[in-house]
Amino acid sequence: MASIFETVSKAPADIIFALTADYKADPHPDKVNLGVGAYRTEEGKPWVLPVVHKADKILVEDEHLDHEYLPILGLESFRKASAKLILGADSKAIAEGRVGAAQCISGTGAVYAGASFLAKHYPFKQAACYISKPTWANHRAIFEGVGISVLEYPYWDPETRGLDLKGMLATMEGAPSGSIFLLHPCAHNPTGVDPTPDQWKQIADVMEAKGHFTFFDTAYQGFASGSLDKDAYSIRYFVERGFEMFIAQSFSKNFGLYSERAGNLTIVTKTPEIKDRIESQIAKAQRAVISNPPAYGARVVSQVLNDEKLYSEWEENLSTMANRIISMRQALFDELKALGTPGTWNHIVDQIGMFSFTGLTTPQVKVLKEKYHVYLTDNGRISMAGLNTKNVKYFAQAVDDVVRNH
Ligand code: PLP
Repeated sequence: MASIFETVSKAPADIIFALTADYKADPHPDKVNLGVGAYRTEEGKPWVLPVVHKADKILVEDEHLDHEYLPILGLESFRKASAKLILGADSKAIAEGRVGAAQCISGTGAVYAGASFLAKHYPFKQAACYISKPTWANHRAIFEGVGISVLEYPYWDPETRGLDLKGMLATMEGAPSGSIFLLHPCAHNPTGVDPTPDQWKQIADVMEAKGHFTFFDTAYQGFASGSLDKDAYSIRYFVERGFEMFIAQSFSKNFGLYSERAGNLTIVTKTPEIKDRIESQIAKAQRAVISNPPAYGARVVSQVLNDEKLYSEWEENLSTMANRIISMRQALFDELKALGTPGTWNHIVDQIGMFSFTGLTTPQVKVLKEKYHVYLTDNGRISMAGLNTKNVKYFAQAVDDVVRNH
């Protein structure tokens, strides 16, 4: 009997996950994985943050914890603390009761929850979502998946290897009023290029004049500068100016909780009543997709965010990660300079956060993989966390070869 699914075609593998699988299968002793956006130690190993170990221990020993369902919108202490973390302890919007929150399946789930709410309830029915060119590949997939058309705004200028502010503002100005703009508040993925405070002001001016809706996606708070407050600058600035917005928060990177899927959608609205209505619709939709979110990761985050001592330990852990990444930027830059590798490499030290957009071409990336067993995405993005003092010279020499000869 023929299968009822004969017509189903095979979907392409996810690029990042396929890259990691290729890396794992490669037996070469000098192989380097610069693909996945996950923190690695100087020894190239995953890092369980010491503060997370402490929170784990507290949770294991807590006799009052059970495995009952969480509410549909998740763990309240986590939701409140997440909103406070991103908006600031002194947030006027929180004090005025117009900030909502929904615990979601990590950052991805938070983007999805916000996007699917907009697909159903956004008043401008034909509005497109504008995403930066380039961006995290899932942005397009998520918005298109819920039926919102996706357009791009210029972001990366290959000439200057910096921000194309002019192009970005022109697209914002030209977009129909009430368009949705997805913005990375810090540590832009994949370019590592962020607007300055003055540039954020210019962006906010156009967003306000055109009545566009702001959807922030923050997956790297604390990872960019090492300071949680500094990395929240753009969001707090927009809130101060009176914007309504959605903020998708991920705790994968800044807590190292990748597999626990701890995330939150923070919602800033004009009034407590509107906040309540939006939360109720998100709860209704969430019930039909995941019923209610998983508890463990949210409990860990909540434990740390709601305890002064653990919170400051977390800040130290964040500095450890951010500083190691910053030192690897410098080390790579120094190695390339010492080799006299053709081209300018200042962008390696100027870019911010986990990634660097090297400017390496797709054919060069291919040679890096085949000849040097170095794995990175075709667009030339490297995860700085994959570098350490033992492999940075090897990587720089490989880059030097491909730049000169390929
Ligand atoms: N948003 C951006 C820009 C990201 O880079 C990522 C992860 O790489 C995420 C969201 C979501 O990550 P997760 O769902 O693992 O929390």
